[in-house]
Amino acid sequence: MMWRKNGNKRYFTRMGTRKKVHTFVRVKPTDDFAHEMIKYGDDNKSIDIHLKKDTRRGVVNNQQTDWSFKLDGVLHNASQDLVYETVAKDVVAQALDGYNGTIMCYGQTGAGKTYTMTGTTENYKHRGILPRALQQVFRMIEERPTHAITVRVSYLEIYNESLFDLLSTLPYVGPSVTPMTIVENPQGVFIKGLSVHLTSQEEDAFSLLFEGETNRIIASHTMNKNSSRSHCIFTIYVEAHSRTLSDEKYITSKINLVDLAGSERLGKSGSEGRVLKEATYINKSLSFLEQAIIALGDQKREHIPFRQCKLTHALKDSLGGNCNMVLLTNIYGEAAQLEETLSSLRFASRMKLVTTEPAINEKYDAERMVKNLEKELALLKQELAIHDSLANRTLVNYDPMDEIQIAEINSQVRRYLEGTLDEIDIINLRQIQEVFNQFRVVLSQQEQEVESALRRKYTLIDKNDFAAISAVQKAGLVDVDGHLVGEPDGQGFGLGVTPFSAKPGKKSKSKKTFKEQLSSSARKEGASSPVSGKELDVSTSKTQLTPSSKEGDVKDMTIREQETSSLEPLPSDSPKEELRPPRPSTPPPKPVAFEDFKNERGSEINRIFKENKSILNERRKRASETTQRINAIKREMDVTKEALNFQKSLREKQGEYENKGLMIIDEEEFLLILKLKDLKKQYRTEYQDLRDLRAEIQYCQHLVDQCRHRLLTEFDIWYNESFFIPEDLQVALKPGGSIRPGMVPVSRIMSLGEDAQDKFSQLQQVVLPEGPDSVAFYNAKVKTEQKHNYLKTMMGLQQAHRK
Ligand code: ADP
Ligand code: MG
Repeated sequence: MMWRKNGNKRYFTRMGTRKKVHTFVRVKPTDDFAHEMIKYGDDNKSIDIHLKKDTRRGVVNNQQTDWSFKLDGVLHNASQDLVYETVAKDVVAQALDGYNGTIMCYGQTGAGKTYTMTGTTENYKHRGILPRALQQVFRMIEERPTHAITVRVSYLEIYNESLFDLLSTLPYVGPSVTPMTIVENPQGVFIKGLSVHLTSQEEDAFSLLFEGETNRIIASHTMNKNSSRSHCIFTIYVEAHSRTLSDEKYITSKINLVDLAGSERLGKSGSEGRVLKEATYINKSLSFLEQAIIALGDQKREHIPFRQCKLTHALKDSLGGNCNMVLLTNIYGEAAQLEETLSSLRFASRMKLVTTEPAINEKYDAERMVKNLEKELALLKQELAIHDSLANRTLVNYDPMDEIQIAEINSQVRRYLEGTLDEIDIINLRQIQEVFNQFRVVLSQQEQEVESALRRKYTLIDKNDFAAISAVQKAGLVDVDGHLVGEPDGQGFGLGVTPFSAKPGKKSKSKKTFKEQLSSSARKEGASSPVSGKELDVSTSKTQLTPSSKEGDVKDMTIREQETSSLEPLPSDSPKEELRPPRPSTPPPKPVAFEDFKNERGSEINRIFKENKSILNERRKRASETTQRINAIKREMDVTKEALNFQKSLREKQGEYENKGLMIIDEEEFLLILKLKDLKKQYRTEYQDLRDLRAEIQYCQHLVDQCRHRLLTEFDIWYNESFFIPEDLQVALKPGGSIRPGMVPVSRIMSLGEDAQDKFSQLQQVVLPEGPDSVAFYNAKVKTEQKHNYLKTMMGLQQAHRK
């Protein structure tokens, strides 16, 4: 239903599984129908109300005389049969599939709510929604032999904010001791103390209904209760379990059939005493119902005031939410009642704004589920046993592992990692999972062990923590390379590769006299220097030849990417070279050495690098200026275009002059056109310039990058030669030396003859005649040897350290 004034589009845009509350109007039959004031739409889905000015006497609204309400159906002169078909049948049918349903009758006293809901108990033909719903439920149950469906009913009356059980008079219920209360739990709302009755057939259900109806009438006499002043809620609870044993899911639902108290506002007509009290309660509960409904209709509202009164609280999970909801508004069709009719229709129009999201109430029978799973498990175990015996796997155990078994797997993993166990046999899935688990355990233990061993021995400092490093350097504990002051090289705090110069015995040899140094570098640095980035894999040796903690320093300062240099080798016999001092025992820090290098051997390439960089910067500046100019031109073009458009629109407004098919335009417009043409030309020229500049910048960037790379590569070579590579090796690397350049990276050269890999290949050649089975054995042997070698080296280092 919808107010004409109140057209709310929100409703129609929200689709999906949401569903509107269905609203119907039932007009009570009368001989005095107000034809002039009440009109139905052609499709019977709207109702128009027209008030004549003189009949209104200013009661309703001073301006408005016409209203239109859109509904899901107008029931005029409709039989009880038709009303049930239209209003209730689908809701009841869906309840059997697990959807909650609520049907409410709203309207002023005497408009036909009780007649619609209960009907007359004397005449079967005039029976209302309640008995018909019970009938439909039982009929549907008969049609579903696959399900065990139970039906329960309860009948609650709310009168003056008190709860009454209309079925409490039944002999097996007994009078309740404590007053009923409304309780909320995750499953929904229920009324504690309200009797709920299992009914296995239609007839039982009917007697319960009649019992309740009779109690309602008796109470109205004995307790002085006006039955039209109370709300009555008849609830049918359905629970359907599948008869198929394996299904532990079941559905529950409830159908609430609500006969509301008369909605007329009695307070105005001067009622007093009991009537006034009733009126106050009804007005209150109905207006709370209305508030709850307004809140439900407002998607932005998060809080719905359900607990303000008993009626809304009891219906909390039956209003909106996941229910199928129907509101039937009972009205008089008579002119005298038009005011109340309007008020009832307004209520309906608010209800129409509410959307619900009907959903099946599916539950799990936990006990049944466990039983089913146990059964399934037993069956699968049997299946597995059969399978194992067929596959001759008789000793496999599929139960969860105990601590001893897990410890055994842990030891297997350890032995496997050490190399003493070659394979871990796969037994079953559980065992495989445990093996992986234990791998993780052992790995994390080893990590911890290594770290704590290092911590016991060394002070560990984060390589990236420059503040900490410089603090230690300041304190004089370590030199710039991270080596402990006064220690042999390579025993510094850094975690990483041991520099080769730490090898015992090499230390004294690595020292050169000044003369030796000069002569060797002079020989090496001939025009066709073999020590170029391409030939000697210096990029690799760079990281291996220098102490680990130093790796980042210079690179971070300058290197962006590694490229193979294509620059010509630089003239190397720089006169400054002669002044180089003898090799110090501790190499200078790389940044310092880099400065030296730039003034010495690297001066030429540094000069080219700087030159290229300044060209690049200059081009960049020009490009930025050009871009700015282009933008300015573009802006001016826009302004000119706008002005031209304005001129054109002026011309069109004033009427155009044409002369032999030629447009006549004034001077201003003409000048603007010329200006625009000129700007366009400028724009194109500047744009071309920018494009050229960009190409140039790209090229220059490339040159700068190459220079930088070359500078660093040369520096690394120079640095290693000056401070690390032993003299005898430099001799071997010289042209004509025993090692041909370009063949082996320097790092490999340093360890030639001691490489375990080589030993292994030799070993393999020896053992191969024994067949592939022996490989594992020798594998283990080599691994053990490697481990011992490592330990020996470490001990040697420690001894040297102590000395
Ligand atoms: P309410 O419950 O809204 O106060 P009732 O259902 O008690 O109103 O109706 C008042 C009287 O009008 C009753 O006697 C009822 O039988 C009669 N009545 C209401 N609606 C109809 C109808 N559609 N057809 C026949 N009689 C009706
Ligand atoms: Mg009634």
